[in-house]
Amino acid sequence: MNRAYGLLDCNNFFVSCERIFNPSLKGVPVVVLSNNDGCVVARSQEAKDIGISMGSPHFRIKSEIRKWGIKVFSSNFSLYTDISSRVMDVLNSFGLNMEIYSVDEAFFDIGCISEEKRGALIEMIKCKVERWVGIPVTITTAKTKTLAKTINHVAKKYREYGSIIEGSVFSDSEIDALLKLCSVKDVWGIGFRYSFLLNSFGVRSAYNFKCLDNGWVRRNMGINGLRLLQELRGFPIHIASSYKEKRTLATTRSFKKYISDLVLMSGYVSSFASHSAFKLRRENLVAREVTVFIRTNSHNLRYKQYSNSVTLQFDGYTSFSPDIVKKALEGLRMIFKPGYLYKKAGVILSEIRPLDKEQTYMFPSRKMVNKDVMRAIDKVNLKWNGVVKLGIENPLDSINGEKEFVSQLYTTDWRQLLTVS
Ligand SMILES: [Mg+2]
Repeated sequence: MNRAYGLLDCNNFFVSCERIFNPSLKGVPVVVLSNNDGCVVARSQEAKDIGISMGSPHFRIKSEIRKWGIKVFSSNFSLYTDISSRVMDVLNSFGLNMEIYSVDEAFFDIGCISEEKRGALIEMIKCKVERWVGIPVTITTAKTKTLAKTINHVAKKYREYGSIIEGSVFSDSEIDALLKLCSVKDVWGIGFRYSFLLNSFGVRSAYNFKCLDNGWVRRNMGINGLRLLQELRGFPIHIASSYKEKRTLATTRSFKKYISDLVLMSGYVSSFASHSAFKLRRENLVAREVTVFIRTNSHNLRYKQYSNSVTLQFDGYTSFSPDIVKKALEGLRMIFKPGYLYKKAGVILSEIRPLDKEQTYMFPSRKMVNKDVMRAIDKVNLKWNGVVKLGIENPLDSINGEKEFVSQLYTTDWRQLLTVS
């Protein structure tokens, strides 16, 4: 049987979520800001066309906002996660093996569908997601996940290809033509360091990379580079989970007001740790290590400067909030020094792996109870906007930051349902 994968990617996801409930945003430039309204994290096509780049600080684009009438939103993660789960539910209803890759992307296995029937199936998935949830999507297919991801990149950049590219039925030369349009830095898993190395050897496009010699790639980029090469040549390697295992999950924030008090900082660090733990559980992952960092404002040299971080290990792998918060606070106490004005802090989980590979616990019954407790709390929090917390955590706004332009919780809070008059 031929292997083949589809990749469903929601277009300009956060902006599209805002547009579902506010049709006046259609056809006009829209941007969504990060936590604390710091910088741009999502742009509508119109905003991209104006030249607003990803990550632009809000204060730098104020004149463009006025000039072009750009609509600005604070990020409304409760809304986006709820819409995301609706999109994933629709995809899941087709009964294909699927793997949720991020809030707005999922892979699905179409190897079992004959080539002639794939086109109609893809059309139907796209149509159902757009009609039932209201989110426009791009779907690309290919013989491997890396190829599907790479072709998706081309589809985003060159819109004349349309929002469906069926790479899984393309000839080799048709695939090569697409790979020539994708720069090597945009190949899934290449990263900044390797793209720099590859560029220095004249390897600029994904196609150039594909043509490299196996031995050269093995010597310069190790076994993972070789795997990537095979995937790009259309030979599937089990790749996604090995990326996931190397990944880290971070919750970090800059504070609007300086913090010099250990008790207050403990509240923030607990909230960050608890939020990271929630992100772990949402993706069915567990972590082995936690890093805590704190730093003063390096741009304000009138104040004394200090920054430090520490990494600690849990007893085994975990996603249980109290374990993670406790370890993070232990780390904070090791690095916190009084007498400084802190501007930024964060909690980063690492050594991450899927839950099913978790080592067995010494007390299995405790693990089961923990899982059920956390599942119940996550459910309540998703529905009621984070009302259940550990005693030490700061109020909700410590995670969400200050938000000036936030939209309604249209789908997750009874009090904020859309009213039609
Ligand atoms: Mg997307």
